[in-house]
Amino acid sequence: MKIMKFGGTSVGKPERMHQVAQLITKDESEPRIVVLSALSGTTNSLVAIGDAMAAGQRDQAKEAIDKLEAHYQSFIKELVKTDKAYAKAKSIVSEHFEFLNIILKISFSEALSKDILAQGELLSTKLFSVYLEEKGIDHMLLPALEFMTIDAQDEPQLSTIKVKLKAILQQNSNKKLFITQGYICRNSRGEVDNLKRGGSDYTASLVAAAANASVCEIWTDIDGMHNNDPRIVKKTLPIEQLSFEEAAELAYFGAKILHPTCIWPAQQMKVPVKLLNTMQPEALGTTITQEAGSVGVKAVAAKDGIIVINIKSSRMLLAYGFLRKIFEVFEKYRTSIDMITTSEVAVSVTIDHGGNLTSIVKELEPFGTITVEDNNTIISVVGNEIAQTKDMLSKLFETLTPIPVRMVSYGGSKHNVSMLVPSSYKTQTLQLLNKGLFGLE
Ligand code: ADP
Ligand code: ASP
Ligand code: MG
Repeated sequence: MKIMKFGGTSVGKPERMHQVAQLITKDESEPRIVVLSALSGTTNSLVAIGDAMAAGQRDQAKEAIDKLEAHYQSFIKELVKTDKAYAKAKSIVSEHFEFLNIILKISFSEALSKDILAQGELLSTKLFSVYLEEKGIDHMLLPALEFMTIDAQDEPQLSTIKVKLKAILQQNSNKKLFITQGYICRNSRGEVDNLKRGGSDYTASLVAAAANASVCEIWTDIDGMHNNDPRIVKKTLPIEQLSFEEAAELAYFGAKILHPTCIWPAQQMKVPVKLLNTMQPEALGTTITQEAGSVGVKAVAAKDGIIVINIKSSRMLLAYGFLRKIFEVFEKYRTSIDMITTSEVAVSVTIDHGGNLTSIVKELEPFGTITVEDNNTIISVVGNEIAQTKDMLSKLFETLTPIPVRMVSYGGSKHNVSMLVPSSYKTQTLQLLNKGLFGLE
């Protein structure tokens, strides 16, 4: 079994969908599960529709629904040729937008907002299926909501997914091509939910692990993982080979090409992950496996929106149990800590969302003086055994002389050195590292 995931841009235009159909039928030696995202821009629009509804701005929500519907109406005109396929596509679009218009009339809830977000992937897969049918390509739609589940902590349940997916595949063992939705799932209450933004990569990796696939291909709009953020730095180059650990660090610390936690399922089952370019299918891309390939720095990535919490205490820091008490506060509010530094009298930790910040600060107050700094960015330098590379730190600090580095995390992982900088210095930091570490300008 081979998994092929196509992101928003890869299905965002009718001609791109046509190209995806070619890519998935090129090599039919293995059965394939194709995971699709929503058309590019759709999930953003659905988020805006949900936000408008939540704020009671029905007119605004209605306007956005109509605009999105018009987009789909013109999309299907170019997607299919025959009257029969067009009628089918049109009724799918009508059905889903009718649903959004019904939601608009009832009172809004968190669960409904998840139903709204699910429409994008439901639409893209159903419309793609109509196109495949028109082309006479035998396939089956696999409803992700029937096998993709998360638990009460919003964590995917790989063992359950495995059992459910296996059963569906066994019942349809005569089929060689399956199409399913990325991103969407059911939660522990049985409601429609999702794997967070960018979650289609996570679906692909989970499906790859569940089906014990030979490969998990992530098809996107760039030829693999680059050495630096191509949205910020002008000259960047694709990396041929990464280990699961390196890829996981890069994804978690901001390389948008991969969902932050999508590597572990593939890694657990040792399924190689390939990052490939739909617009340039012959490009080598990036292969992610157990082996790291070469030693040394591979890439840098940046994660924004980081909040620093400083806890200053003159008495208690060195007392055993002090850190445990602090960590318990973060555990209580299910907030993970990215970086930590300690000194004789103070601890600084970083978190990546401020959802429970007020409550966390309140509960930390008995331990000392608490200060909070926002608008920070973690810059991560990732590679194989870089923490052991002799001149690594001197090179880094020399390169970053003009940057007011606030925290450094070194030695926690063999593959990562992370630095915290004010977000206003992010671009400059990435540019300097591009030159200092990779000789690129
Ligand atoms: P998809 O819709 O296919 O999931 P995404 O937009 O989520 O695609 O991810 C691809 C984008 O990730 C690229 O277009 C690029 O701008 C961005 N990106 C950020 N950092 C990197 C990186 N280090 N390497 C490659 N792409 C990156
Ligand atoms: N459509 C979802 C998003 O835009 C999931 C994905 O594309 O991966 O976040
Ligand atoms: Mg993505």
